[in-house]
This record gives sequence, C-alpha cells and structure tokens, in this order.
Amino acid sequence: MTFTDSLYPDNWSEIATSVKLEAQWCCHRCGLKCVAPGEDTSKLTISKRRVYNLQVHHWNRNPRDNRKENLVALCSGCHLHYHRGGRSNVSPGQLSLW
Ligand SMILES: [Zn+2]
Ligand SMILES: [Zn+2]
Repeated sequence: MTFTDSLYPDNWSEIATSVKLEAQWCCHRCGLKCVAPGEDTSKLTISKRRVYNLQVHHWNRNPRDNRKENLVALCSGCHLHYHRGGRSNVSPGQLSLW
C-alpha cells in the first residue's frame, strides 16, 4: 500500500524539518532532546537512534492538514503514545509520516 505517499505534499520533508527546527529538536510532550541531522550519532546504539528520532505529528491525524497549529514535534515514544490512545491501527513503522 502506498496510500501515505499521495497524502503528503511534495515539500513535506521541508515542512517537517521546519517544525522540528522550531521545537529545537525537543519533544513537545516529554522534552527529550532528539538528534538533529548531521549530529554525531556514532556513540548511540541503533535502538537509541530510533528513540531520539524526532517525528512530526498531526493533531487531527490528517496528513493533508499541514497548518502549523496542526503539527507538533514528538519523540517516537510519545508519538506512539498519541496513536495508541486512538482507534488508529497505524503501525510504528508508519509513524514517521504521521
Ligand atoms: Zn517525547
Ligand atoms: Zn502522528
């Protein structure tokens, strides 16, 4: 299934990066400082790198709605928390886009 591809605008990566930059690479919910691109992650284990991977969440879960107020930067753990709370059956692998 490639349905997620069509839902995201061409400049999604730019949008996501600007949201993360604005959050200064910190999670909105727990404040975890995540790894920015280009930062040295060689000391982190692969699983840590996953944890410190900041993601952008849509509050209304509509990936077409990319207004700033609908977007928030979350670490992967908190991102999962928000998605677990709903009826969404999004798998963790898809979360980097949601
Ligand atoms: Zn967090
Ligand atoms: Zn999300």
